[in-house]
Amino acid sequence: MILSNLHTHTVYCDGINTPAEMAAEAAKLGFKSLGFSGHAYTPFDNGFCMSIENTEKYISEISELKKEYEGQMSIFTGLEYDLYSEYDTSLCDYVIGSVHYIKKDGAYLPADESAQKTEAVINEYFGGSGIAYAAAYFKEAARLRDLDCDIVGHFDLVSKFCEQSSLFDTESEKYKSAALDALHIAAEKKKIFELNTGAMARGFRRAPYPADFLIKEIHELGCEIIITSDCHDSRKLTYAFPEAAALLKACGFDHALALTEKGFEEYGI
Ligand SMILES: [Zn+2]
Ligand SMILES: [Zn+2]
Repeated sequence: MILSNLHTHTVYCDGINTPAEMAAEAAKLGFKSLGFSGHAYTPFDNGFCMSIENTEKYISEISELKKEYEGQMSIFTGLEYDLYSEYDTSLCDYVIGSVHYIKKDGAYLPADESAQKTEAVINEYFGGSGIAYAAAYFKEAARLRDLDCDIVGHFDLVSKFCEQSSLFDTESEKYKSAALDALHIAAEKKKIFELNTGAMARGFRRAPYPADFLIKEIHELGCEIIITSDCHDSRKLTYAFPEAAALLKACGFDHALALTEKGFEEYGI
């Protein structure tokens, strides 16, 4: 396995560590590369996204770390870019495209805030139908096809609270067909999909995103996978990476990708 993580949050958004602390921990673990992916500026959400001013500081602090770790570990500047983010990504080495909101009736409804919030959204905007809510999420996720990004983040984030709450049935045919229809569109441009262990690290789920039926389909469609920890806490930088690799293997993959100085490189799993 090439030790690396491209989905890393810091105090610039909703993480608990500074970029320097994250880099020090990654170096200690023997990482070949580390990429930062702060939540890109999104006009209606300044709770967990970076402000424009903070993004500038974030980019310059990462540039300093690149120099500091030169020859030891590659550091990359990235952003986790929501469908509704607004920021020029030309200074980034890579971009993760993610859906965190569903736009409905002029409102941006959060998909991953809490089970209680999701339940309220389902009742208020979807007539109490959890499946209609999930289908609306996947309609947004399909649009990642046309977002200028390298990696598709946590494709089925909408299922975050489903192990704890009966918001909708992720085993139902309706759910699976909404997810697969969106995946077929999002995969058209052969973007890299993320196997993301972040919700496991934070105790919301026992399995990574996306669900295994989606991973199998990603493989069938000929797209590549990158394993990430969606890290918000340096102690969890490689959380469940061996389990993630084993799951990939069980779903048909024999390799995953990591970003190095040579670009996206394959390694066997
Ligand atoms: Zn995210
Ligand atoms: Zn994230």
